[in-house]
Amino acid sequence: MTSNTDLNDALMARARLVIPGGVNSPVRAFRAVGGTPRFVQRAHGAYFWDANDQRYIDYIGSWGPMILGHGHPAVLEAVRKAAEQGFSFGAPTEREIELAEEILSLVPSMEMVRLVSSGTEAGMSAIRLARGATGRDKIIKFEGCYHGHADALLVKAGSGLATFGNPTSAGVPPEVVQHTLVLEYNNVAQLEEAFAEHGPAIAGLIMEPIAGNMNFVRASVEFTRRCRELCTQHGALLIYDEVMTGCRVALGSAQSVYAQAIPGFEPDITVMGKVIGGGMPLAAFGGKRSVMEQLAPLGPVYQAGTLSGNPVATACGLATLREIKRPGFFESLSAKTQRLVDGLKTVAAEEGVPFVADCQGGMFGFFLLPTLPQNYTEVMKSNGEHFNQLFHALLDRGVYIAPALYEAGFVSGAHSDADIDATLDAAREAFRELPK
Ligand code: PLP
Repeated sequence: MTSNTDLNDALMARARLVIPGGVNSPVRAFRAVGGTPRFVQRAHGAYFWDANDQRYIDYIGSWGPMILGHGHPAVLEAVRKAAEQGFSFGAPTEREIELAEEILSLVPSMEMVRLVSSGTEAGMSAIRLARGATGRDKIIKFEGCYHGHADALLVKAGSGLATFGNPTSAGVPPEVVQHTLVLEYNNVAQLEEAFAEHGPAIAGLIMEPIAGNMNFVRASVEFTRRCRELCTQHGALLIYDEVMTGCRVALGSAQSVYAQAIPGFEPDITVMGKVIGGGMPLAAFGGKRSVMEQLAPLGPVYQAGTLSGNPVATACGLATLREIKRPGFFESLSAKTQRLVDGLKTVAAEEGVPFVADCQGGMFGFFLLPTLPQNYTEVMKSNGEHFNQLFHALLDRGVYIAPALYEAGFVSGAHSDADIDATLDAAREAFRELPK
């Protein structure tokens, strides 16, 4: 298979004239890996087709939401029916209650939930809620974790030292992030120091329990336990950002995986997105009733949205959740993902490429490293040049993975054994081409 990007090139040239960088979200631009982004024409099941009608096995799935694959019949039908009944009302609907009930039944640490339209909005609102509920200002986040592009969360640590962050983006005044403390992921000693120094001022700690924005890095059980204990001890709220992992790594989300290792474990607030909207703009944040009742119109913490709980998006999310709850769905999804990851490891070993990989449920990650990284600094030791080569070698063979080495991958219910076999064949050739 040869790559033929002419129609994609033409669309990119046209897009660049009217959309900054030609894209509506930066990583789509292929800046890290070079080359021309594929403009998607249509998608079905585990595949999408680009402007040249070239087919790709899709391991991004809209960066997570498409857990059933594209165009699942039950979801399509629900969306079609909802659209015929009306696009948006700005008034409550029964479907919002149904989706809220469904989410709470899957993630029982949430006693109440509010629906919003994006993960960014959900994360930003969760932080405001934590600050409003505790009457404190400071927030802990971890380097390499992404929580959307709200000003106060666009910070990373400049070094491995605990420091109040500098904004990662232009346009964010330093005053806005002065209360955001950025720590190293999986570093228990640093966490303890931060609480010892700032404990009474800390409103909340926000973390990705499995960090999918530095590829795929698990929080260790000990780190997870200490995050919970220190928040409880100091009266801070533990916020799990499960926008990516929610209903993706397990039906009960990442917190259900950690609860198996730490009995009784649960966060105070959970931020959800992606899968719960099934590919429509829908996200949510929820938690303990006493905390959630601080939100307007009950409490003093303001939060609102014209399109929040949108009737078409809620229909899409609800149909998606009902499908993934079917007996055997997650077992089958997990087995497929494991088969892909094991196969990649075997092929890489046979081709003499340093390679490690990990997965949980329908989410996976891999690194061109000898051992699995534990934090952002270690992730960034992965060979970027080799990754870019690998990315293009796979793309040329019709396999579409994330165009950056710090992004996770996603398998859907629509991926077949044959798709995984084809991926492994492509990977073998791609690994073989890498410089040794
Ligand atoms: N939180 C996490 C963990 C994410 O992965 C993302 C997006 O990838 C967000 C928040 C932001 O969500 P959105 O892109 O819907 O604003």
